[in-house]
Amino acid sequence: MNVADSERAASGLRRAGYELTESAENADVVLLNTCSVRERAERKVYTRIGEIPGIKHGKHKPFIGVMGCVAQLEGEAIFENAPAVDMVIGTQATDRIPLLIDRLQKGEESLIDLEERAVGEVWDVSPVERHSPYVAFVPIIEGCNKFCSFCIVPYSRGREKSRNADELLDEVLRLKELGYKEIHLIGQNVNSYRPKSTRGLDDSEGATSFSRLLRAVAKTGMPRIKFTTSFPRDFHPDIVSAIDEYPNLCDWVHLPVQSGSDRVLKAMRRGYTASDYMRRIEKIKTAKRRLALTSDIIVGFPWETEEDFRQTLKLVGECEYDSLYIFKYSRRAGTPASKLSDDVPEKVKTDRFLRLESVQRERQKKIFEQYVGRTVSVLAEKPSARSATDLVGHSTCHKVVNFPGDTSLEGQIVNVTITAAKVNSLYGMRASAM
Ligand code: SAM
Repeated sequence: MNVADSERAASGLRRAGYELTESAENADVVLLNTCSVRERAERKVYTRIGEIPGIKHGKHKPFIGVMGCVAQLEGEAIFENAPAVDMVIGTQATDRIPLLIDRLQKGEESLIDLEERAVGEVWDVSPVERHSPYVAFVPIIEGCNKFCSFCIVPYSRGREKSRNADELLDEVLRLKELGYKEIHLIGQNVNSYRPKSTRGLDDSEGATSFSRLLRAVAKTGMPRIKFTTSFPRDFHPDIVSAIDEYPNLCDWVHLPVQSGSDRVLKAMRRGYTASDYMRRIEKIKTAKRRLALTSDIIVGFPWETEEDFRQTLKLVGECEYDSLYIFKYSRRAGTPASKLSDDVPEKVKTDRFLRLESVQRERQKKIFEQYVGRTVSVLAEKPSARSATDLVGHSTCHKVVNFPGDTSLEGQIVNVTITAAKVNSLYGMRASAM
């Protein structure tokens, strides 16, 4: 989501006549896009501000703007904590950054915009600003209505707002014409997609607006379509049916469970039990293609006992995730859980993190090894960071795959036969080159 916001900010600035520079040394304006999901990310902003060249070496000081979730939540307080900051730009003010810079140039100081998106501001990202020329993020829903007790997102990004399907389909068709090979439909909870109008969905059947959208997007012929993140309570089995029907809907589902203990899930206000979650998983496991499954887990939520944690270990064992993002609980001021005592000692959080990681590693190793000898379809994205003669890309099941190849293959979808399973990636040879 933050990458998509930065792309949107960059597009707006370019439209307003600004040039983007790779180096903060040359910049007249430096913007920091921020995340507040965990405390560590939030603290990083202030370190980064201190590292901006003009500040550190006392030379020409650029205008400095803080955008994103930290800006939205901390507002005015940012000016007190970091007096070098000139603009505080809330999560829905991205399109107004050029106006704020104009006002700074005219001599105004300490500008703050935490207002909602204005009517008529459209999501229009220039291909030049996309993080990849082949893979594009397409936000379909902003904000969150779930109010999980640990999570800051409803406060930093506001309530859920879905974009209309006709606008999304136009964007996907445009991306296809521009040669994009893969899109990710993104949002805090993509499957809670509920647009105000059904424009664009009328020719697509489905049990929910999201599964109708998946079918409509699949019909555009975009070669690969991925979507993240799905919220378990809203995960309708029809999503799996849509994936079964359309080969360009990719074989990967990210479904964050957070905990395997019903007691903890209740305190987290997730709105499902472990067995509700497992029912969704059963449907995913009976899909026609094997769907890769990934998840998020928080360890050390207030009151989490050893027994609760064991239930998480058990669930992780049963789900056989292709990969797992594990987080130590981080208390976020303003959330309901912040009123509970953060009573799991740091040492215990670390211990649970490592034990869960080790169970996951073992399972993941087995899953990755099953790929050896199989041929997977890979979008060749860029040169590998590890070897000058290799390219790196992702499979349809969203695994990182490295393989020998030169830059002429970039942007192509190639078949790669897997020859080795690494801890978090696969290695292989182009099927035709074997
Ligand atoms: N909307 C998705 C959901 O809840 O299903 C996830 C979005 S959240 C931005 C990404 C992940 O960050 C969450 O799934 C959760 O595991 C983690 N996270 C969020 N708040 C956290 C907190 N206070 N402490 C630790 N991890 C947290």
